[in-house]
Amino acid sequence: MGGEVPSSEGFREDFLYMELNILTFIYLIGAVTFIIGLKMLAHPQRARRGNLLAAFGMTIAIIGTIFLYKDEEGKGLHNHIWIFAGIFIGGIIGVLAAKKVKMTAMPEMVSMFNGMGGACAALISITEFNRMVSHPTVHSLPPSSFLSATVSQGELLIILLGLIIGSVSFAGSMIAWGKLNGTIKDISFKGQHLLNLIILAGVFILAIWLFVKVDGLFRFDGNSVVFTLKGHLIFYAVFFLALLYGIFFVMPIGGADMPVVISLLNSFTGVAAACGGFLYDNKVMLTGGILVGAAGTLLTILMCKAMNRSLSNVLIGSFGGGGKAGTQGKKQQGAYKEIALSDAAVLMAYANKVMIVPGYGLAVAQAQHACHDLEKLLVERGVDVKYAIHPVAGRMPGHMNVLLAEADVSYEKLLEMDDANEQFPTTDVVLILGANDVVNPAAKTDPASPIYGMPILDVELAKHVIVNKRSMKPGYAGIENDLFFQKKTSMLFGDAKKVLQDLIGEIKNL
Ligand code: NDP
Repeated sequence: MGGEVPSSEGFREDFLYMELNILTFIYLIGAVTFIIGLKMLAHPQRARRGNLLAAFGMTIAIIGTIFLYKDEEGKGLHNHIWIFAGIFIGGIIGVLAAKKVKMTAMPEMVSMFNGMGGACAALISITEFNRMVSHPTVHSLPPSSFLSATVSQGELLIILLGLIIGSVSFAGSMIAWGKLNGTIKDISFKGQHLLNLIILAGVFILAIWLFVKVDGLFRFDGNSVVFTLKGHLIFYAVFFLALLYGIFFVMPIGGADMPVVISLLNSFTGVAAACGGFLYDNKVMLTGGILVGAAGTLLTILMCKAMNRSLSNVLIGSFGGGGKAGTQGKKQQGAYKEIALSDAAVLMAYANKVMIVPGYGLAVAQAQHACHDLEKLLVERGVDVKYAIHPVAGRMPGHMNVLLAEADVSYEKLLEMDDANEQFPTTDVVLILGANDVVNPAAKTDPASPIYGMPILDVELAKHVIVNKRSMKPGYAGIENDLFFQKKTSMLFGDAKKVLQDLIGEIKNL
């Protein structure tokens, strides 16, 4: 009667095996939620749910790792107080920062968070390197002499890659953050690109040296095997030079091209995190890192296309300085004409088709709700109203879509650049709200312009163009805009929110 009673060791093994299987299953769910969540982000209506889904996947992956992870010896994580204190403090900072951030400061926050990801990856590499060199495999140890010690070169390669990419991403993102909030100015000097290449070469030469010679950098101190100071110095020199490269790489890049750099650094962080996934054999970290790396790379390529920049220019940090733009800004222009609020109201209220072009100024003024109110009012009067969205309007791709979605503007009303350009010839009135560079015809007509070649919205093909901004000051690229001086263009000066509210009042009185 009864089966064989399994030994307690057998129970333990079965139990461990079951825990590991549950963890693998949790990781699988986590990875799938990342992929589905990312896909859902592509559509504004599903983006919020996509974000929540991916966050859920990340949460279960973290909890699973904390409680179910076991190393080869069957030991789990024990420093729970440290882990939960970190999660708690980091979580509070993250929630407060995300709640407080203004729409216009979003790119800065993305940059800061991205930098933290890079720093994590670099710190993982530093910790793992120190762990690895303090536990090498010691060979041929006769009673009195030590012959050699080795470490896993595959592991070292991943550590070095994580260190280099994570450090560049951290330092570069911090500079980008400072530039976007105005605390760091563009700095460029003669020979900067050569210096960048020399630093980068230094990083790789030292890293390759360490990789090839690592086993020779151990010594026997009589009792135990130790990694030499020279070995440590080479490792930290790689770290230091990678940080320096991150700083110098981003330093000269001008404001208008900063979002491309942020996206590129974002992809770096993804790859650095994937290195961590390799190191810990953690599938969900690996998947998450690869997804961020791939998505960031694709976004970089798409932005480069939208800005007409080549990716190789981005990679050697040699594009888009503010200097060029500054000289263009001083070009003399003719006269511009203003339009009274009441005339603008009449023009739009009696139009068949109105196209609204939102830009960075709309976000600054927080005028998205007033803009939606104007749109509803015009639609009630039988006007066909659409929005023309330039891919890089605002300060980062998708900025305008998110801003308008916040005000419940229907996604169907948002036209991408190519569709909008097709519709301008049949548009009666274009209302430009705080946009400037993305409607600058110099991109098509002036080969000397820093934005030459950048695809723009062909607003001048419409019958009337009304431009709302506060002054004649240039936009982000710092250049004059010929559009403002064209015959069919009228300027409607003032803060976008106030102007829109007044326009609504005028139209209601018609
Ligand atoms: P711009 O920065 O070119 O222009 C914004 C305009 O808004 C300014 O001219 C400003 O004029 C006006 N403005 C500011 N505050 C207000 C306010 N409260 N009310 C009304 N108007 C206001 O913005 P765009 O959206 O046209 O272009 C985005 C820029 O960012 C481009 O240079 C683009 O190249 C760059 N960019 C680059 C990306 C990339 O991938 N490289 C990505 C995203 C953007 P005034 O001060 O007179 O009011």
